[in-house]
Amino acid sequence: MNAQFRQQFPFFQQQPEWIYLDSAATTLKPAILGEATAEFYRSAGSVHRSQYDLAQSERYELARDLVAQRFNAEAREAVIWTSGTTHALNIVANGLAARLQAGDEILISVAEHHANFVPWQQLAQQTGAKLVVLPLNSAYQIDDDILQNALSARTKIVALNLVSNVSGVRQPVERLIPIIRRHSEAIIVLDIAQAVCSEAIDVQALDADFYAFSAHKMYGPTGVGVLIGKMQRLAQLRPLVFGGKMLQEVNAERLILAGLPYRLEAGTPNIAGIIGFASVLEWLNEWDFAMLNQGLYKLAATLYKRLDAYPNVQIIGQGTRPTLSFTVQNQHHADLAAILTEQRIALRSGEHCAKPYLRYLNQTGTLRLSLAHYNNQHDLERFFEGVGLALAILEI
Ligand code: PMP
Repeated sequence: MNAQFRQQFPFFQQQPEWIYLDSAATTLKPAILGEATAEFYRSAGSVHRSQYDLAQSERYELARDLVAQRFNAEAREAVIWTSGTTHALNIVANGLAARLQAGDEILISVAEHHANFVPWQQLAQQTGAKLVVLPLNSAYQIDDDILQNALSARTKIVALNLVSNVSGVRQPVERLIPIIRRHSEAIIVLDIAQAVCSEAIDVQALDADFYAFSAHKMYGPTGVGVLIGKMQRLAQLRPLVFGGKMLQEVNAERLILAGLPYRLEAGTPNIAGIIGFASVLEWLNEWDFAMLNQGLYKLAATLYKRLDAYPNVQIIGQGTRPTLSFTVQNQHHADLAAILTEQRIALRSGEHCAKPYLRYLNQTGTLRLSLAHYNNQHDLERFFEGVGLALAILEI
């Protein structure tokens, strides 16, 4: 199945010399995305604006249905288009501002991507609320007791990543969310950007209030993101952006907002992207996701085991997921990355948009390697050849 899946990605024919191990940054794109996007631009128009755009509006709204089905959203109207995870999280942070007062608390973890850190920091500064940053335990997870002790009637928002983009470690939200519900009335926000490619997510079963992710992390286009929320919570958000298509009535004195989802979607959306995403989601539905994940996690297990065997390599947080960070003793991550890049191995080095986390880990940067369903054993062999050569050059 892996070979068939890999064939869907033009990258491998076009860049046969490259090994792509940076899917946590963005996944490669299947041919279907390029085809759907080109088809859209060949016959472009807008959506929901005129009489003649029926086919496009249908595909556009179908994308919403497909997201709602895949994530088990409460309703199709509970799926809001955004430009990405960052935009989605900003919509929530901005939309909740009116609910916060000085002395309230916003809880995040130290392991957040800047996209799930800065909007809360800014919201705290704007409202006089306190930003409480939770540490992690030795498993790189939030500790039940530390969480429980941090919660109180003052806690108004808890915003956490489901999977870290640095370590690939997943937070045990099935345990954490009930703790949050028992000990506070906080609104719970999950950044699921790093989970959507490698896990089936049921938003109602997890029971957070809001979820944010980007299409480009799950084989879709850039410039498309999704905010999923409980309908009742979405309806309470003050829009971040005002303009066309989000209102029922307006005059100089007053504004009557449209219903969900449109009240949170002012302006012409990324129609090409969203229609392309519809095609990607239809295509993804044709594959047995559980089976694809089985192969992916098996490959990840091999990776952990072999990398762990190098005496000078330290893996950050022994996760099991297809993303991992590592450092090599006494070596700068950028030097290793440069040697690997020369060998046409694409992975990421640096701070991964998570400066507070890197500082907490006492690292100036790490090498991050991330797999998706198209990666195979050959990619790993090339990676380990590359590591061997890099270590030899650096005389380790
Ligand atoms: N959160 C996490 C965990 C991420 O990995 C990323 C992307 N690296 C983001 C948020 C931000 O996503 P985007 O840049 O697509 O808005």
